[in-house]
Amino acid sequence: MTTPPDNGRFRALLLTGIAHCGSTLLGRMLGRHADVLCVGEVMRMQEALELGFQCSCGASFAECEFWGPRAELFERYGNDYRRFDLGFFDELAAGAQRSLVFDTSKTRVWRTRRNWRSGQAATRTGFVFLLRDSRGVLAATKRNGRDISHAAPRHAKWIRRLSKFARQERQRTLVMTYEGLCRDPDGELRRLLDFIELDWDDELRRPADAVHHLVHASASRYLAGSNDVRRDERWRTELTATELAAIEREMRRVPALVEHYLDDDAPTFAYRDRLAADTPPLGRNE
Ligand SMILES: [Zn+2]
Repeated sequence: MTTPPDNGRFRALLLTGIAHCGSTLLGRMLGRHADVLCVGEVMRMQEALELGFQCSCGASFAECEFWGPRAELFERYGNDYRRFDLGFFDELAAGAQRSLVFDTSKTRVWRTRRNWRSGQAATRTGFVFLLRDSRGVLAATKRNGRDISHAAPRHAKWIRRLSKFARQERQRTLVMTYEGLCRDPDGELRRLLDFIELDWDDELRRPADAVHHLVHASASRYLAGSNDVRRDERWRTELTATELAAIEREMRRVPALVEHYLDDDAPTFAYRDRLAADTPPLGRNE
């Protein structure tokens, strides 16, 4: 086996956030970089196997050209994500000729936080905290048949927890937003590449032009298979006034959400810009 390249600041980049935050979109983009191996939510491989999910390439994990040969690695770790460490990610990347593994396991990155604090992991593991407006997140939750009055407080609890983690690890955490990424993909991807110290790669603009081997990838068909990055704004028509009020009440209790989405000086991508030229009304592109 040849030695993998040693480009960039980190060997593992772990995404924190909550379900429906846009992690699959970011994973498919960054995964096009010549130095990056995006693996999806590796810490949910066990569930993916139990539920009979397939790799995002369409093959079963046993038959997938990427995951098949790596089944032994998971067995050695007892298929227990709580034991996954930098050595695990190094082995995952072995033979792939990529210097950085990008994992999007979100809440499980937080659950394994002690694994990233010592030895080489303390300096060679970085984090991306991907925020998304809670109204967009919880509209997706509603679409999946879950009750917003229960989901909204739980969502707020997780954002508070992940915000605290991002503050504690601020030297090696980049905060991004789904809305900012959709508004200016090139600018946000360049900011990410500066953070991880990798050069620009034009392929990042073409996430749909390759076969990805992602675990537990988003099942959303919203613009899947397209290189056109357009923000999913369906929440505007899908949430009732009562649901919106309940969600915004929870958002007000989380400083990061107020700052990014509710304050008068929140970034221009916040949902106050509903007449902005880059956000055509729903329906036109469907
Ligand atoms: Zn595959």
